Amino acid sequence: MSTEKKFDVVVIGGGPGGYVAAIRCAQLGLKTACIDAFTGKDNKASLGGTCLNVGCIPSKALLESSHHYEQLNHGLDNHGITVTGLKMDVAAMIKNKDEIVARLTGGISGLFKANKVTSFHGKGKLLAGKQVEITSGKDKSIISADSVILATGSRPIDIPSAPVDNKNIVDSTGALNFKKTPKTLGVIGAGVIGLELGSVWNRLGSDVILLEAQDEFLPAADKKIAAEAMRQFKKQGLDIKMSARVTKATPKGKKVVVNYEDATGEHSIELDKLIVSVGRCPNTDNLFAPEAPIELDERGFIEVDEIWQTSQPGVYAIGDLIRGPMLAHKASEEGIAVAEVIYGEEPQINYDVIPSVIYTQPEIAWVGQTEQHLKSTGEKIKIGSFPFSASGRAQALGDTTGLVKIIASKETDQILGVHIIGPQASELLAEAVLAMEYSASSEDLALTIHAHPTLSEALHEAALAVDNRAIHIPNK
Ligand code: FAD
Ligand code: NAD
Repeated sequence: MSTEKKFDVVVIGGGPGGYVAAIRCAQLGLKTACIDAFTGKDNKASLGGTCLNVGCIPSKALLESSHHYEQLNHGLDNHGITVTGLKMDVAAMIKNKDEIVARLTGGISGLFKANKVTSFHGKGKLLAGKQVEITSGKDKSIISADSVILATGSRPIDIPSAPVDNKNIVDSTGALNFKKTPKTLGVIGAGVIGLELGSVWNRLGSDVILLEAQDEFLPAADKKIAAEAMRQFKKQGLDIKMSARVTKATPKGKKVVVNYEDATGEHSIELDKLIVSVGRCPNTDNLFAPEAPIELDERGFIEVDEIWQTSQPGVYAIGDLIRGPMLAHKASEEGIAVAEVIYGEEPQINYDVIPSVIYTQPEIAWVGQTEQHLKSTGEKIKIGSFPFSASGRAQALGDTTGLVKIIASKETDQILGVHIIGPQASELLAEAVLAMEYSASSEDLALTIHAHPTLSEALHEAALAVDNRAIHIPNK
């Protein structure tokens, strides 16, 4: 054991929850350490957690590369641009993705140094008395703190019918590192990861089949948006089978045989690769010693109160480890908030306006409530929609798929939900999030001047449409 060290705050986990918490603690003058176990390429420590190493960033890099390829292949015909001799180099795309990851994760190390956060590489385990054991290879050491923040994130859920070997049957990390485009690719789970990574390889030439257990596609999204998404994905060639139950997936040489059942009967297909993306579960294994127990909820997430404190006073938990959506920006907001709680402030997070984005083409983005949810609660609502086909900028872009839908209270006109499917939906959503954060009405958005010609005019027109006064479409 090495010498004990004492800190004001020890953060276990260096993802977007943990590293942000550590930086904010240090900014507030707290002596802070962050322990992270992630080992990247070349067996080196790599900060940034799932998001920077094997999640948000690498998936977006490959989505971007594959989108460029698809655009050049046949997406620019209406602009009068055809490309001959187009080549795809999957190895170069993977290298570009890895370089982006290396730059960003290295950036976090730089930020730790600049903010004087002490960084440990290894597995952290909470012991009694807010001591934390760090295991790095064969070495063990103990540090202690007045406050501990647990931020160890999540990992893919395994299903016994399709055991991941990261050769033929892969998880999301394996699917970010294929050496060449699989001719045939199966995906178990048509959720966010399945759709994003399925899209990457579909654009690069794979025949992709998605096997989804539920009978409802994207149940968290607004029904109208989910229906439009399904239509577009089918047009792109994604073969999405709903109510499909995989009974067995077996590697067979360089292939994998997948048996599944759906409403049409039993099926057996042979594929080059299979991605398992059926959700993620919190990393609580071996995170605390029996003498320092932490309460979990019935789904295995760490229980926290309204200031993110666990069942142990002075021990907090954030991000994918606790309830709420498993999103990087949610984890980071909680990281900032907990640092401020520890410093003695009373921060708040408005969980009602956390944006959700699926980075497919078209992009799908929403904030607030869906029409189906609001109707189920008996809320009286009014709705304005505007299709991108009526937007001058979308026409100029040659990308007129999708629509903006704004839902407002019939009584107060306050915006209750904004749902977008279409070009740059992820960026357009920010205006809606800000509006909802300020409890804006649809009238507020309608009164806001939007530059012409921009895609954001679709939000303006949808806000006008809420009261049947859109200019560029016929009203109800
Ligand atoms: P994590 O990012 O998981 O970080 C936890 C860290 O703790 C990891 O480095 C882990 O190695 C480390 N750790 C675990 N146990 C220990 C231990 N005992 N001791 C020390 N360290 C430990 N979210 C978005 O918002 N937008 C996206 O576009 C997006 N894309 C995604 C794409 C993919 C393929 C995946 C898998 C996820 C994506 N997510 C996205 C989800 C996002 O990555 C997570 O919500 C986010 O990373 C959670 O942050 P966190 O800090 O709670 O945990
Ligand atoms: P998910 O919950 O989005 O989707 C999993 C899907 O698998 C669901 O539709 C579920 O019904 C289905 N499923 C579950 N068990 C199944 C089975 N046995 N057979 C067939 N289908 C089954 O989870 P995910 O796609 O694995 O992503 C994990 C988390 O990562 C998500 O919570 C998401 O928030 C986060 N993430 C976010 C982004 C983003 O923000 N753009 C991108 C990727 C991941």
